[in-house]
Amino acid sequence: MPAHANREIHLASRPVGEPIPANFTLVESTVPAPGDGQVTVRNTFMSVDPYMRGRMNAGKSYAAPFQVGEVMSGGAVGEVVESRSPDLSLGDTVLHFNGWREYSTGAATAFQRIDTSLAPAQAYLGVLGTTGLTAWIGLVDIASLKNGDVVFISGAAGAVGSVAGQMAKLRGASRVIGSAGSDAKVRHLLDDLGFDAAFNYRNGPVRDQLHKAAPDGIDLYFDNVGGDHLEAAIGAMRSFGRIALCGAISQYNATSPPPGPRNLGLAIGRRLTLRGFIVSDHMDRFGAFAAEVGPWLAGGRLVARETIVDGIENAPGAFLGLLRGDNIGKMLVRLSG
Ligand code: NDP
Repeated sequence: MPAHANREIHLASRPVGEPIPANFTLVESTVPAPGDGQVTVRNTFMSVDPYMRGRMNAGKSYAAPFQVGEVMSGGAVGEVVESRSPDLSLGDTVLHFNGWREYSTGAATAFQRIDTSLAPAQAYLGVLGTTGLTAWIGLVDIASLKNGDVVFISGAAGAVGSVAGQMAKLRGASRVIGSAGSDAKVRHLLDDLGFDAAFNYRNGPVRDQLHKAAPDGIDLYFDNVGGDHLEAAIGAMRSFGRIALCGAISQYNATSPPPGPRNLGLAIGRRLTLRGFIVSDHMDRFGAFAAEVGPWLAGGRLVARETIVDGIENAPGAFLGLLRGDNIGKMLVRLSG
């Protein structure tokens, strides 16, 4: 088979504060032919995710840092176009972690075959993948969602938040409140996703808007944002409330340590639980997650929106846009049709 031309994104330099386009370079290369036990995959979609911001720094985040001058990586799906492994065949659709490039060659064991009769391949980068699992683990295992809970979700129009809010309703929350960064996103939460209340955090202090939406307080907070959202949620918590610390995106570009919530002391008297988690520690729960969420999706009870940007050359822009809030639902880059 003739060598494939490949295009991939390298980390050109480490950002200070907010990343900029010059931190990335588009590099042309040739796809190596697969060796024994290897396959070549033509990627169709890749994921851009907030945790990649941490990987652009030199220091360790919960994932290893990207190296300057080298190709970046992340979740992707694609189609096997060459195989020298008995485990994968031409045309198989696979999930893997060699994103940020058009083609990927590697050991067949690094590529997991996925079933596209259940959902399109890119759903495995979102609602049927770690995005959906993050939402489910955070609610069910970390924050012990109970029937009748009043639930607050920040980053509610994003990939994890939008799924978490709907799951909370499907699992018996009495009221679900979401916050997001635009009036259009707030409308989407109310009109399309079934949130009971929602507010634009740019329109006024989170504390005041949350109080208006939940005057009697909240039982569960799913934190995607940190900062003033976390402080406001602690202030609104009822006794024995639970907080799943999933992300703190308001602080990912900080150049000095951000202040902690000033009201953390309330956690004592109110007997609150605040618990951080990383989804990769919970992969053993994937089966239980898929068994519950698959039917919700198939039955149209769970809506998973995507924002799609086309072309590897636009992947850095998609990532920068994600950090700024350009997406509704899961932000994806389509690499080929
Ligand atoms: P999203 O799809 O939610 O995209 C990120 C969103 O963050 C943007 O759309 C933007 O929406 C919002 N945002 C950006 N800056 C701010 C800010 N200063 N204040 C409030 N909101 C902001 O991404 P994901 O769903 O993939 O991730 C959501 C969160 O979950 C992130 O914090 C991420 O790090 C975390 N995460 C954690 C995992 C874990 O294992 N613990 C696994 C996966 C994700 P808006 O317009 O509303 O501002």
